[in-house]
Amino acid sequence: MDGLIGAIGNTPLIRLGRASAATGCEILGKAEFLNPGGSVKDRAGLAIIRAAEADGTLKPGGTIVEGTAGNTGIGLTLVANALGYKCVIVMPETQSREKIDFLRMIGADLRLVPAKPFKDPGNYVHVSRRLAGELGALWANQFDNLANREGHRATTGAEIWAQTGGKVDAFTCACGTGGTLAGVSLALKAHNPDIKIVLADPEGSGLYGWVKNGDLTITGSSITEGIGQSRVPENLGGAIIDDAERIPDPEALEQVFDLLIHEGLSVGGSAGINVAAAIRVAKTLGPGHTIVTILCDGGARYQSKLFNPEFLRSKNLPVPAWL
Ligand code: PMP
Repeated sequence: MDGLIGAIGNTPLIRLGRASAATGCEILGKAEFLNPGGSVKDRAGLAIIRAAEADGTLKPGGTIVEGTAGNTGIGLTLVANALGYKCVIVMPETQSREKIDFLRMIGADLRLVPAKPFKDPGNYVHVSRRLAGELGALWANQFDNLANREGHRATTGAEIWAQTGGKVDAFTCACGTGGTLAGVSLALKAHNPDIKIVLADPEGSGLYGWVKNGDLTITGSSITEGIGQSRVPENLGGAIIDDAERIPDPEALEQVFDLLIHEGLSVGGSAGINVAAAIRVAKTLGPGHTIVTILCDGGARYQSKLFNPEFLRSKNLPVPAWL
């Protein structure tokens, strides 16, 4: 294995015992929290950097700028460290303390900005685009840069096909950029168009309505980070999504807590949404099916939020007994 780059991807596909027993299906979680940067976004960071090297937009020793909820910033910064680039990361200040601290620890030039909707010029994505222009740096542009989903098609999707030996009936996944969902959809549908691709969407995101009836109307909110969208990123364009499930926070948190305390798997909120959606799809399909989902990142990244009784109470969410 060649350094950090060689350690990204090829994550295990873990059978989730309780979800499988509850549904009579095989529910399998791709353990993306085992990537060196701790999330599925290491893959996107690497894919974006490799594509920019290949097309000449990133020169040796160059600088990469990106707007991110945190995980892409971590992936990009670690890959940049390993390959001799610099990273400037723009992030909404509402993201977890742990991700902010980790980015500083690994040497990112971190710029926190107030959380603003996408239509506001102060939104972190627009700030990062302008900053890249000012610095003459590469703007990673994970939402609309198709290198993101291509990386997932070639790795995440290909791995799922190989690890299941093609025995997969459905795939559930939440969307931030859509790179994971679209990339895996492209890979699996190329092998078998009957594999059902289901978006797992938090409250407060427009994508559920978009998949269901083409309407991006947004209601509610979620404590999950890195997922949910008020627009359709280029990475989702043209990828087949067969259906969608909208998962409220309490249903996602039940999975986060169950996975931790009954199976020893520490995951974050988006993984909880993904597993909850996999369970719903399993119940719809009936026993005997195989559903794959993504365990996007680890729970330690959200200790101050999802595992903090005060935070949970402030959001009117149930506090598990052991906390
Ligand atoms: N879960 C977490 C924790 C994330 O940080 C992200 C990316 N922002 C996602 C899921 C969504 O992945 P993608 O960008 O590939 O849609």
